[in-house]
Amino acid sequence: MTTVFDQSIDVGGMIEGIRRWVENESPTSNKAAVNRMIDLVAAGLDGLPVKVERIGGHERYADMLKVRAGASEAPGILVLSHIDTVHPIGTLAGALPFRRDGDRLYGPGLYDMKGGAYIAFDAMRAVARAGTMRLPIVYLFTPDEEVGSPISRAAIEAEARRARYVLVTEPARDGGKVVTARKGVGRFEVTTTGVPAHSGGSHRKGRSAIKEMAHQILAIEAMTDYPRGVTTTVGLIAGGSAANVIPQHCRISVDLRVRDAAAGREFEERILGLKSVDPDVKLTVTGGMNRPPFEKTAGIEALLRQAQEVAREVGFVLADTVMTGGGSDGNFTAALGVPTLDGLGIDGDGAHTEWEHGFVSSIEPRTRLMRGLFERLQ
Ligand SMILES: [Zn+2]
Repeated sequence: MTTVFDQSIDVGGMIEGIRRWVENESPTSNKAAVNRMIDLVAAGLDGLPVKVERIGGHERYADMLKVRAGASEAPGILVLSHIDTVHPIGTLAGALPFRRDGDRLYGPGLYDMKGGAYIAFDAMRAVARAGTMRLPIVYLFTPDEEVGSPISRAAIEAEARRARYVLVTEPARDGGKVVTARKGVGRFEVTTTGVPAHSGGSHRKGRSAIKEMAHQILAIEAMTDYPRGVTTTVGLIAGGSAANVIPQHCRISVDLRVRDAAAGREFEERILGLKSVDPDVKLTVTGGMNRPPFEKTAGIEALLRQAQEVAREVGFVLADTVMTGGGSDGNFTAALGVPTLDGLGIDGDGAHTEWEHGFVSSIEPRTRLMRGLFERLQ
């Protein structure tokens, strides 16, 4: 059988495709904009022998697109790409216009992850057109990863349970490395409610919500344990009403990162179990683990080896990073025990910044790597 692995890749045409996707800005919170992005992806599938299903109906978030290539009902390859970005509309006309500077392609969401999504999309189209995949491919384009995948998580997990492998097109890092392990992420909201009073006239009667929160903040930050790979961060704080009022309300947001599921349970319990130091101040804690840890299993190791073999044939050495602190949709699928390879997207740097860029030189080898995976995984 002739495969598409060795066939030529039109890098110029792909840059043009990436430009069209990047120039359609799609911040998660802008439902109409993200839906236009889904329209663009769907339009690129016209005339291909694939089944396209648009899943919508959520009031806050845009639709999901599910593409199926291959007739077999056997467990296959699930590909995950999110097409939302963190950049507000106007970034393109302001700080981060689409542009090429030598090997660098700049644009909002270009590195995280429209460049990588386009690479896998292009490879899937080539393989679907030629009919050369060994396993069926289910490709999910999702609209809400940057806010923790509140609506796509269930679909991702349902498809992952039916899949043999999961490939995630998050950005490559540190010179093209893929990701085989990610920390788990927890999110918590802590509120304290005290007793307001005039700070001059009746100081003794007041119970400060901010003072209480100060104790809690130090207790939470002190849970950080670098040797165990656990970090706790109080990243947001709000409280008080005026400089001369003993504050009644205070609120913080807490970010927790853990290396393994046991630590996730332990620290979730510790944070949810916080008690107020001042019994007259009410303390409430809500939240929990959002993304479970993505731990490198034997199945992931084996999938990595297969990808490394394909990369060798393409002509580059594919390495994996040490566990990264950032979560992705790969956390959900890896936690279900499905071999998951992440960071298959475009190489570059500056995710979520105004200097976000991908490397043109990584487009061809990584497109070939995706073609090879689609054609060889079995
Ligand atoms: Zn991303």
